[in-house]
Amino acid sequence: MRLIPRDDPAQALRIRRFLIAFVAYFIWLILIVYCHFLDLIRLSIGETAILYGGLIVINIGFFFVFRTGLNKKFSEPSLTVPQMVVATIAAMLVIYFTDRIRALLLLIYFMTFIFGVFRFNLRQYILFALFTFCSYLLLVLMLFQTHPEQMDAPIEILQLFIFGTVLFWFSLVGSYISSLRNRLSAANHELKHALATIEDLAIHDDLTGAYNRRQMHEELRKAKNLADRGGMPFSVAIFDLDYFKPVNDDFGHQKGDEVLQQVVRQVGSRIRETDILARYGGEEFMVIMVASDIAGASECAQKIRKSVHNLKYPGLPDSFRITVSIGATSYRPEESVDEMISRADTALYRAKANGRDRVEIERPETEPGRGG
Ligand code: GH3
Ligand code: MG
Ligand code: MG
Repeated sequence: MRLIPRDDPAQALRIRRFLIAFVAYFIWLILIVYCHFLDLIRLSIGETAILYGGLIVINIGFFFVFRTGLNKKFSEPSLTVPQMVVATIAAMLVIYFTDRIRALLLLIYFMTFIFGVFRFNLRQYILFALFTFCSYLLLVLMLFQTHPEQMDAPIEILQLFIFGTVLFWFSLVGSYISSLRNRLSAANHELKHALATIEDLAIHDDLTGAYNRRQMHEELRKAKNLADRGGMPFSVAIFDLDYFKPVNDDFGHQKGDEVLQQVVRQVGSRIRETDILARYGGEEFMVIMVASDIAGASECAQKIRKSVHNLKYPGLPDSFRITVSIGATSYRPEESVDEMISRADTALYRAKANGRDRVEIERPETEPGRGG
């Protein structure tokens, strides 16, 4: 089992933070042992070992909870508060057993307090500062009971005042940093969302939702590359709405737009998911059929033609119909995209000339421009 999981970034971050905190305990340990030899602490090596044994057991427990994912069941899965409570109590225990350097050790306590910037808002920070302050106050009162000879009331009051002030100040600044962090991550999220929207807008036609002409060329380029490399065939069909101008003239531009939208919806629902439907311009569209030879393209074009032929339009007379003329062709390896499009155009022109509402095929073997 890995120390830090690879497949879950949120969990990995929590465990990394936990490990940093865990290492901090050992910085404390060095200090305690040093103080022990200087006779500045009333903890023997044995008692220190018991304290650290307890801390290690508790932290193995934390690690177990993180690594099994149990922490995700809690409302605060990073377990910042329980970890900080454990660290605060451990720090207070150590500080309780020190004599002259007690005030100095309080400084190291802020190593714990700073972890709040990952989680706390102002209220939570103040609450935690109160918890910390009260635990230190309790410790001082206990020391007055157990070791009155070491205690100097005015100095203790001054230390409590300073500790309290610094805790409060840390809470203010810490919660400010924490809120900046939150705002930054919210802004990041919005930015990603905006980027996705922009990307979407950049490749789609805003009236019909079909791909736009630029994306059509991009898709053609991709299909051509695939075909040139691996021989995967593809075909295109260009369709143009028949007698569309009179729709605008008779029913207005708005209705004309709606007809375009409905035709695109209909065609989009008839083609394969891997096929590409793009607006070539005006009331002309292109379908790129991947992995389709000329027979498949012809079949698909007929399907499109029939389904548009039968389409009814809400808000327009029941008898109103729109038809499409379609010119289709397949890609001939190594030719340019323009050559292929021009062949499809030729076929479309013929479909119009031969009476509209029909499909004409231009075979790829045919030399461009000669017809067939
Ligand atoms: P044909 O069968 O020969 O294609 O006849 P047509 O009337 O469709 O041909 P023409 O090219 O003369 O007219 C195309 C019309 O499509 C002209 C234009 O006003 C209309 N059109 C193009 N784009 C849009 C659009 O976005 N919305 C609307 N409402 N009409 C459009
Ligand atoms: Mg037309
Ligand atoms: Mg046209």
